[in-house]
Amino acid sequence: MAIKVAEEWLNICGGCEVTILDIGEPLLDLLGELNFVHMPVLMDHKYFGQMGEKDEMEIPEADVGIISGGVRTEKEKKVAEVMRKQCKTLIALGSCACYGGIPAMANMYPLEALYEKVFRGSKTTDSAETPSENLPPLLEKVLGVDEVVPVDVYIPGCPTNPDIIVKAITCLLEGKEFKLEERSVCDECPVKREKKAAGGQIKRTLESVEFDQSQPWENTRCFMEQGFLCLGPVTLAGCGNKEGNGDGVTVPRCIKGNMPCRGCFGPIRKGANPLVDMMTAISSIGLDAKQVPDRRALLNRYIGAQNRLRPLPARPSR
Ligand code: SF4
Ligand code: SF4
Ligand code: SF4
Repeated sequence: MAIKVAEEWLNICGGCEVTILDIGEPLLDLLGELNFVHMPVLMDHKYFGQMGEKDEMEIPEADVGIISGGVRTEKEKKVAEVMRKQCKTLIALGSCACYGGIPAMANMYPLEALYEKVFRGSKTTDSAETPSENLPPLLEKVLGVDEVVPVDVYIPGCPTNPDIIVKAITCLLEGKEFKLEERSVCDECPVKREKKAAGGQIKRTLESVEFDQSQPWENTRCFMEQGFLCLGPVTLAGCGNKEGNGDGVTVPRCIKGNMPCRGCFGPIRKGANPLVDMMTAISSIGLDAKQVPDRRALLNRYIGAQNRLRPLPARPSR
């Protein structure tokens, strides 16, 4: 019998839903075993009955619930709670759901400061009152889903790798546990490492990394050793795919595009502190970690929920 799946999107850009479609042909094999009972991105569903006649939010019962997006509003918090109640297993899909994602960078500012900036502090728009009617109130900060309800399976990435979604769903169909191995992006990166930087300066990613596409990956020097801020040492592996017909080396997704890793898969293990670990990694190859601009934001870019990013206390006036 097909397993029932409910999918919800909360504070998102929609990229995680596109990743589900990006599964491609394997999705056709899986679809026979899945019965999507709820998926607002594809099918209309009224939370409070067709005519809004119900008082309680309704989401159908499901074996598996998938939530993309973090929690920004009171309404999203309620949806997450109802999903947890209705779904036997709950998956957090994408870095927004797992760690707040890019929207959680807003956690560096108090809510009032955000309203002030968006509605009255922008030179490109007319000043306006903060809207309050017919809108779900914002929470004080962006939350990861597990700050609201317990999560069973984490599938990070912005967006994630479609193959991981297939593996996770296949495991669930077979009654097995799914968890990404605690390895770093560096652990599956095939470039050449000499454990020291080629120069002393940290470069901006506006400059190009040095590579020769005609050469094997082992001939390309590690991007961080070239002076670029590559978060591979502190980021969970899983984004890469094997080259060739699936029998070549695994190459992390951004490295494949000759871009340094930006850390979208989040920390290698729960409780890790990528900011501190990354500063150590930078220093260990002879670069000056103090040259990294805006370290707090840059090294927590996708993971600002779970209290990693919060407003700094006001400086005492002199
Ligand atoms: S994790 Fe990335 S792709 Fe997914 S919803 Fe968030 S911003 Fe979009
Ligand atoms: S720092 Fe970046 S380029 Fe270097 S090995 Fe790690 S992931 Fe690859
Ligand atoms: S290389 Fe880093 S930023 Fe790029 S997809 Fe992989 S984990 Fe995300």
